[in-house]
Amino acid sequence: MGIEVNPESFRPIVGIDLGTTNSAMAYIRDGEPHIIALPNGDDLLPSVVLIEPSGQIRVGRDARDGLLAMPDRAIAAVKRRMGETDPIVLGDQQFLPEEISALILKELRQLLVPLYGDQAIEAVITVPAYFNDAQRRATKHAGELAGFVVERIINEPTAAALAYGLGATTERKRIVVYDLGGGTFDVSVLTLDEGILEVHASNGNRELGGEDFDWSLVDWMAAMILKLYGVDPRDDLRARAVLKDLAERVKWVLSDEDQAPIESPVLMVHDGQAVRLSTTIRRSEFVQFIQTRLDETFALLDDVLQQSSLSAKDIDEVLLVGGSTKIPRVHEMITEYFGRPARSEVDPDLAVALGAAVQAGLKSGALSESGLVATDVAPFSMGIAVARSTLRGLDNGYFSPIIARNTTIPCTRTDTFYTTRDWQTAIDIEVYQGEHERVAKNYLLGSFRLTGIPPAVVGSQPVEVTFRYNLNGILEATARIVSTKKSQTLVVQDGLERHSKEALAQSRARLEALWNDEAAEPYTTVATELDLDLDLDLDSELAHDLLDASPALSTPPRVDHTPLVPSEQEPSVDENIEDPNLSLIADLNAVLLELLDPELRPKVIAALNRLQSALESRDAKSIDEAVDEATTVLMEVDLFL
Ligand code: AMP
Repeated sequence: MGIEVNPESFRPIVGIDLGTTNSAMAYIRDGEPHIIALPNGDDLLPSVVLIEPSGQIRVGRDARDGLLAMPDRAIAAVKRRMGETDPIVLGDQQFLPEEISALILKELRQLLVPLYGDQAIEAVITVPAYFNDAQRRATKHAGELAGFVVERIINEPTAAALAYGLGATTERKRIVVYDLGGGTFDVSVLTLDEGILEVHASNGNRELGGEDFDWSLVDWMAAMILKLYGVDPRDDLRARAVLKDLAERVKWVLSDEDQAPIESPVLMVHDGQAVRLSTTIRRSEFVQFIQTRLDETFALLDDVLQQSSLSAKDIDEVLLVGGSTKIPRVHEMITEYFGRPARSEVDPDLAVALGAAVQAGLKSGALSESGLVATDVAPFSMGIAVARSTLRGLDNGYFSPIIARNTTIPCTRTDTFYTTRDWQTAIDIEVYQGEHERVAKNYLLGSFRLTGIPPAVVGSQPVEVTFRYNLNGILEATARIVSTKKSQTLVVQDGLERHSKEALAQSRARLEALWNDEAAEPYTTVATELDLDLDLDLDSELAHDLLDASPALSTPPRVDHTPLVPSEQEPSVDENIEDPNLSLIADLNAVLLELLDPELRPKVIAALNRLQSALESRDAKSIDEAVDEATTVLMEVDLFL
């Protein structure tokens, strides 16, 4: 069954789970989310695209079936590459990852034509909580390319919780969403309070899922064949494909039965002999193969609970999402871990799409009575480039987070910074996303220049930088000169948006041509200024520790925390003249990084704080005293080191 007309005439809006392995679409009918089935009756569309030699596009099951026969013409798991700008080659065509996703979404969009014709259809599309800005935007663009008006991008765990109807209660609940799909694992902690759903923290592994379990079975079967026939079937492309397919089906049987028969067709011919396999596997054997990988998911669960300062007993609800959670061992481990079973009344394959439809229904008014409000979490820290004093002088390459990772959004945060040089009248604000203390290791979202700072001595002109981050993942960065109230704002749609506007029109024309089976224009890469190394280190706690350990952060922002990247163009005093007080601060900071002695460290911190306060007070006597104290401490440390 496809889609039925909604008796109430709410505007057309759907929820879409654009998954790594499978995608699904749902909408609200009679106040309930319903999956929109494919013409073949399936609920799930395999997220696979194939371009036939004739140029015809196949999406879904047909494409998946052709994946192994035509590996150079088909692509699966493109979600892993979303946000990248390297083209994907399929036959003689090249595509951006978002264009491939657009083809998947367009296949879903076609299902709505009988009902809505060509009228604009809005979509809520889900992404993993860890997706960064570029990946979210690529997803949004994929939706737009497919002809949807993308109303909102929401996190998958939020959607899952909405699918379970969590929110229609005034109780306070802590929820864990354990999502084990075909190629990815994600685990998130959410809270529900007064109908407000918040994602607190998320963690995951992008290379862990049901595919790995299939391959473990393939390895087991291949080892058996090697022993029987002296040939490794994995070396033969076709035999490997057949075994992989067989492995997945055996795995499914083992979710329902204690053992599964394995009867392969003729896999290949070796030494004139037909190679085939006929055996049985027990569930317990299969569990042995996958236990280590399952243990990894529970280690990530440990981490995410720790990040939220919670333990298993604090959790009220555990929701299972993703096809691989149908494996009984997952249920057993969840029950052992939490002391109670998980909820699984919503099909784990469909929970995310159903939840996206709930969000869509909230938006269209079809579910306005539910009283549900969804909030989300910032998937990465966002901040600006700042300078720090080092032994070599000021270094502009440090990251000062303003919105920390996992902060509940929408949110607004302000930090105060200062100029780094005397008479500085302009600053360049560079906005980054990431977790590393060096901006070069983070992701540049955009930059802008704030001019008109009244010329003054270093540190006397505070500039407030405010970040506003909304539920669509759009960041608004405003810098304001406190003394004059002059401000400048950047909406971060910058590089990627600009890039996308040019690219979008081009991509759309190409996809339309392909869709209509016409000769497509050759692909051209659109240059983007965001061609940076996307080396987002999710667990760079060390970076945080170093930042946090710096005493300059706990004192009024002065030199370390404060300086913004100085503008290239503004007039300034000779940069080569080093302020001796700044050098002293740099030296103190440097020794602090190396010094572990428990008696000396507090002395260095005290000297540093005192020197910074004295410089701030601009009182000559205090500065002299503080300089003396700092020099003495440095001499003492020198002896020690
Ligand atoms: P998803 O990415 O959520 O669509 O999940 C797809 C993964 O779930 C694939 O690896 C499937 O093989 C796996 N899967 C689906 N049904 C079952 C089942 N009954 N038992 C075990 N794994 C399953």
